[in-house]
Amino acid sequence: MARTRTARLMDGTGPASRIIATSSATAAEIHRHTGTAPCLATVLVGENPASVTYVRMKRARCERAAIRSRHVSLPASVGTNGLIERITELSDDPGVHGILLQHPVGPHIDERAAFEAIAPDKDVDGVTTHSFAAMSFGLPGFVSCTPGGIMRLLEEYGVDPAGKHAVVVGRSPILGKPVGMLLLGRNATVTYCHSRTAGLAGIVRQADILVAAVGRPRFLTGADIKPGAVVIDAGYNPGNVGDVDFESARDRAGLITPVPGGVGPMTIAVLLAQTVEAAARRLGVPRL
Ligand code: NAP
Repeated sequence: MARTRTARLMDGTGPASRIIATSSATAAEIHRHTGTAPCLATVLVGENPASVTYVRMKRARCERAAIRSRHVSLPASVGTNGLIERITELSDDPGVHGILLQHPVGPHIDERAAFEAIAPDKDVDGVTTHSFAAMSFGLPGFVSCTPGGIMRLLEEYGVDPAGKHAVVVGRSPILGKPVGMLLLGRNATVTYCHSRTAGLAGIVRQADILVAAVGRPRFLTGADIKPGAVVIDAGYNPGNVGDVDFESARDRAGLITPVPGGVGPMTIAVLLAQTVEAAARRLGVPRL
């Protein structure tokens, strides 16, 4: 097996802290100018332990960054209409600047319809059709947070996607699909792989930039990776395990994100940054 040097780590904690520090300073400035602090509404359906933890973590981060959070907890039994009603109220509420609907929301709910109830100017998690379209056309709007975090991480480590072959394994609406569109927007040649892809290993081995967004622990190994490739592991599986087998992959990659501490912190940082941006726009505060 051809080996390269051990990969350089793409730490996400440092860049994420810097983004949060900037957002926090801007949030405080907005509060001073307008008397109103940026506010993120979180909506949780049911009590899935992982979702409860994610929402708690996001709210705690908000509080530390001078962003208010308002929490709406709904019973697992709520239906699509009930959920849409609550989200519409938040969309119409001038005191709320960003809305995050924690997913999954349960199989009996039409998740897409619930997402679409989020007003585009409050879609700080980048989950609506409007946001996806704007992002795909390169128009102003909010990006899906994990893909947005991945792009900032690439920038931070001086990786220019232009002319590179980027392979995205996974095509979910919140992760795989949008990160591919963002890479395309930065002039990468993008290939999407998914559960029906034939010859996946051969395609992955061509990747200059590999994004793993599969949701299967250690699904991709060092043998799948082109020597010197940039490996972005967006996976987060039980036991703090990514979708890439880190130990074997780091011997082949040029740059690689750790799990945890790579993509995860960047996701929250982008959520906070976009909430502050939404508040600034809503309150008519010029870019600070
Ligand atoms: P998802 O909705 O379950 O999508 C998984 C994707 O992987 C699907 O497109 C699926 O293909 C594809 N896939 C599944 N098995 C495959 C196989 N054997 N070969 C090739 N492709 C396969 O998951 P997601 O929400 O995108 O999340 C993916 C991972 O990212 C999870 O580990 C999740 O925890 C993590 N995540 C992390 C963050 C963060 O902040 N760090 C945020 C979001 C998600 P089909 O479309 O054909 O079914």
